[in-house]
Amino acid sequence: MLPVQLIRKKRDGGALDDAELRAFIGWVTEASIPDYQIAAMLMAIFFRGLDDRELATWADAMTRSGDVIDLSSISRRKVDKHSTGGVGDKISIPLAPAVAACGIAVPMVSGRGLGHTGGTLDKLESIPGFRVDLPVDRFRELVDSLGVCLIGQTARIAPADKRLYALRDVTATVESLPLIASSIMSKKLAEGIDGLVLDCKVGKGAFMKTIERARELSALIRTIGIRAGKQVTCVLTDMDTPIGRTIGNSLEIRESIEVLRGGGPVDTRELTHVLGAEMLVLGGVAKDQAEGRAKIEKVLADGSALEVFRKVVEAQGGDPRVCDSPGSVLPKPTQRDELSLPQGRIVAIDSEALGIAALVLGAGRRTAEDTIDPSAGLVVDAYLGEVIEAGAPPQVMLHHSLAPGDRRLAEARAMIEAAFMIQRADLPAPPVRTSRILEVIR
Ligand code: URA
Repeated sequence: MLPVQLIRKKRDGGALDDAELRAFIGWVTEASIPDYQIAAMLMAIFFRGLDDRELATWADAMTRSGDVIDLSSISRRKVDKHSTGGVGDKISIPLAPAVAACGIAVPMVSGRGLGHTGGTLDKLESIPGFRVDLPVDRFRELVDSLGVCLIGQTARIAPADKRLYALRDVTATVESLPLIASSIMSKKLAEGIDGLVLDCKVGKGAFMKTIERARELSALIRTIGIRAGKQVTCVLTDMDTPIGRTIGNSLEIRESIEVLRGGGPVDTRELTHVLGAEMLVLGGVAKDQAEGRAKIEKVLADGSALEVFRKVVEAQGGDPRVCDSPGSVLPKPTQRDELSLPQGRIVAIDSEALGIAALVLGAGRRTAEDTIDPSAGLVVDAYLGEVIEAGAPPQVMLHHSLAPGDRRLAEARAMIEAAFMIQRADLPAPPVRTSRILEVIR
């Protein structure tokens, strides 16, 4: 069997058998074929797709290209959540301890932020001392004793994905749904989970711009999961506007702690409640969404989720006082600049533009090598449908440590101003969605 034969077969619309798929991923992992043959196969898959069996085998081979964490010694059911990435998406931080406080184990292997969306690891690392590079044995120990541990992907988790993703990025094949689904699932299946809740973001600030694409991706993710013997629930959620009030690492930790204290913005709380409830259903500790939601709301209100988070922060080397007084523990920017929006009704918010403005202030990375400023970001007090009156307090606060004349500051301000579409307040108000939850696919 030669790589060129498999590429030709896929190019001509054939289905690769399991041995062929596994051989190809083996060559990718061992680096025994050149990039151009891998790129050609990716393009063939981009146009021809993978049927359900091919998809499941391809994803399984990617999972097995590295280590699969064995959590079978942990008796609790193990359920994780994965988000396809949004602006201001800090949900994992209140969610994981809340779900653990309800009796489910949450082995969370997260990513870093790239482009306009942030990453859970960067947010956690804004807590002084917090370490996300724990060895697998310690990860297992903490998932067992605390019910949750949050670490970064190691080089030994799905290494085939790393090589494939790098090539997809430069060959215009990132957008292929089977390639996205297998990439996500190869890493999740390596975590040793029993179930997964996928938060598939839909909208202007998301990878999936339409609900139809989100449904297609969800179906593929479910196919891979179910064929691997896992339970998968997909929740499609609106990403047309940023989540909550904060964008930027330490700012998002502050908002997460508000949620862990039973408060926080309505939408951040809603996502935590709904995704948590679905995790509890998969974990078998709630019979339905309503019961799951009540349990999550309870552990957020009575402080038990916050206590789990405190223990996690301490066990992972961070300063647990962040739970009581985040303002005195988290890094602070040297500058806070205000920005006032024009009068009128906010009828659209470009969340991607706000994500990029936060990145420009230092909160994110353009390339994987960039360093970030953990204190940089935006606090946005402006909501869809809201009318801004004359003399209202400034709606956006820019947190940064840039010098006053730095051109990045002017660039970020211009992006923020352009991100809000404002119309005359006396014109009819367009309908505003009251929930971020669009659909649940069980
Ligand atoms: N996230 C992933 O992990 N892989 C993709 O291909 C896209 C998003």
